[in-house]
Amino acid sequence: MKKISLLGATGSVGTQTLEVIREHADQFSVAALAFGQNIDAALPIIHEFRPRLVSVKNKQVADQLRIQIDSGIKLVYGVEGMIEVASATDSDMLVNAVLGSIGLEPTLAAIEAGKTIGLANKETLVTAGHIVMQRAKESGVSVLPIDSEHSAIFQSIQGQDRSAISKLIITASGGSFRDLKREDLEKVTVNDALKHPNWSMGAKITIDSATMMNKGLEVIEAHWLFHMPYEKIETLIHRESIVHSLVEYADHSVMAQMGLPSMLVPIQYALSYPSRMKSRLTKPLHLSEIGNLHFQKVDTCRYPSVSLAYQAGKEGGTMPTVLNAANEVAVHAFLKKKIAFLDIERYVEKALEHHQTVHNPDLRTIEAVDKETRVFVADLIN
Ligand code: NDP
Ligand code: MG
Repeated sequence: MKKISLLGATGSVGTQTLEVIREHADQFSVAALAFGQNIDAALPIIHEFRPRLVSVKNKQVADQLRIQIDSGIKLVYGVEGMIEVASATDSDMLVNAVLGSIGLEPTLAAIEAGKTIGLANKETLVTAGHIVMQRAKESGVSVLPIDSEHSAIFQSIQGQDRSAISKLIITASGGSFRDLKREDLEKVTVNDALKHPNWSMGAKITIDSATMMNKGLEVIEAHWLFHMPYEKIETLIHRESIVHSLVEYADHSVMAQMGLPSMLVPIQYALSYPSRMKSRLTKPLHLSEIGNLHFQKVDTCRYPSVSLAYQAGKEGGTMPTVLNAANEVAVHAFLKKKIAFLDIERYVEKALEHHQTVHNPDLRTIEAVDKETRVFVADLIN
């Protein structure tokens, strides 16, 4: 029985992780979980999975929840609470599906406690990839990708000569505005942006897909997960989201992982790795029914966020932290209808221009820069 600590249990990846755990209840259980403030969604989860430890966003939510759950369940809150969940003594693995760079400290705590990490929370690697991967190496801990593109790459390098990888190719659907021209983007609304053509996901990542900042974040995530220089990471538009990413080798052989778009596959693979398990939750891919697959170069004039991410990644140091923090604040403001869609990348660009890179930053520096950037962008917005 693999016991799991789950951060972000009420979210899109979190609830799909619980679906996988439910389907394979003879192999997985939930030792501890964390969510933010959605008590209505959390109550049935807590009743069904009976974790020993639960963490919520703040004391107020904890006080509301306390009177509604079994008194035997330990209730904690805040980042400290998430750290306790992530490093719970009776869990074997952390599945980090919380949103944003708030997931960093719990990830580091789980690494220190020797837990295997299943990582959906890409902001953690973008903001502090060098620290996370270094500490994982020192502790002999595996960081298993849950993001579908990185899972595809991970699956495509199993049993291969990793020193012969010549290129990683990350596919992108193009997001909800892929058929619009750049000038048409001035007036798009939050509701339009939330209609993703292929994937059903949380609000923030759906907006990130529309700006394609998601692909930019994923390039940085891939750089850290697979130790690849940015020159060897490419992005490719693929409308159908069937080929989830590809790896090219020195002999020009290309390995790809395919399947219908479903997060259940990469989640389950991370949970069961190195084994593969059956899935009744997912559907088989019939390529004859799909017929055609399309691929197209990413136009960085149309999607400047991708260039911003490459620039920040190549510059390194604290730049990716700034990219991520500015993007988190700007996307939040767009979702609250305080700024226009195209303002998201404008604010990110301004934050990057304003910042002086600190090279090889330690954790404290990263946290300070993350905070400063959030204040800087919030001030611009207001
Ligand atoms: P959601 O917005 O659906 O879920 C976020 C989760 O985080 C919720 O459980 C939320 O709790 C919780 N949360 C938010 N703030 C806090 C906080 N301060 N303290 C504790 N918990 C908090 O996001 P997704 O599931 O879409 O995404 C999660 C991560 O996975 C992101 O990093 C995303 O980039 C990545 N990812 C997502 C994919 C997807 O298909 N959705 C695909 C690949 C990667 P509550 O709602 O109760 O407040
Ligand atoms: Mg992805």
